[in-house]
Amino acid sequence: MMEKPSGNRYPDIEENLKIVRHSIAETCVKAGREPGDVTLLGVTKTVQPDRINAAIRAGLEVIGENRVQEYLSKREMINLDNVRAHLIGHLQTNKVSKIVGKVDMIESIDSVKVAKAVSDASLKRGIVTDVLVQVNIGREDTKHGVMAEELEQLLRAAACFKGIKIRGLMAIPPIYDTEREKRAVFSDMCKLFIDIKGKNIDNVAMDILSMGMSADYREAIMEGSTLVRIGSAIFGSRS
Ligand SMILES: *Cc1c(COP(=O)(O)O)cnc(C)c1O
Repeated sequence: MMEKPSGNRYPDIEENLKIVRHSIAETCVKAGREPGDVTLLGVTKTVQPDRINAAIRAGLEVIGENRVQEYLSKREMINLDNVRAHLIGHLQTNKVSKIVGKVDMIESIDSVKVAKAVSDASLKRGIVTDVLVQVNIGREDTKHGVMAEELEQLLRAAACFKGIKIRGLMAIPPIYDTEREKRAVFSDMCKLFIDIKGKNIDNVAMDILSMGMSADYREAIMEGSTLVRIGSAIFGSRS
């Protein structure tokens, strides 16, 4: 089933990474931003460790996994020495103690309850976990995240928890076809980000805005994303 790290080369991954990086840099220039302002996170859900390691050898510095169980089962086989790992999928309270200490950031905080659980588990390990709060910017029933109008209240409550450091926001907007629609929702998200940042809530640093995936990362960068989460454009489509 699972392959051992082998140093196999995957020219498709190397080529895709080059294309994505180039496109990020090009979009930054177009947006009048510095290419260094946008971090590339490679989404590695369903991807075998051997292929993840190939991307890491090709320079990928941040990876993101959705499921706690899948990540933990692959983790030993991924060369994480110079790589940061983020949890980007929904986190249930009963999985919190398993994942805290195993990732560098949890991007999917969506309730005071889960924020508290992550903080408690972190304090128990003597660490502080960086987190983002996920916003359901498209107000979709099928998506996790807090509604925009609930955000400030959650941040003010979670800011008191000593085991977490809130670094910013994450969003997974609805799938839109047109560039105009994609940009509009990212623009809403960026306004919310700037608005909240302006409130200068103690212990809340708003320096990361995680938005943009394979199909819409250019629009996200145009509208202020600082971290794009890209899966299929690097690793190919997931069957
Ligand atoms: C799967 C996933 C992505 C990447 O999706 P692609 O379309 O493959 O780039 C990004 N963010 C989250 C939260 C995901 O679950």
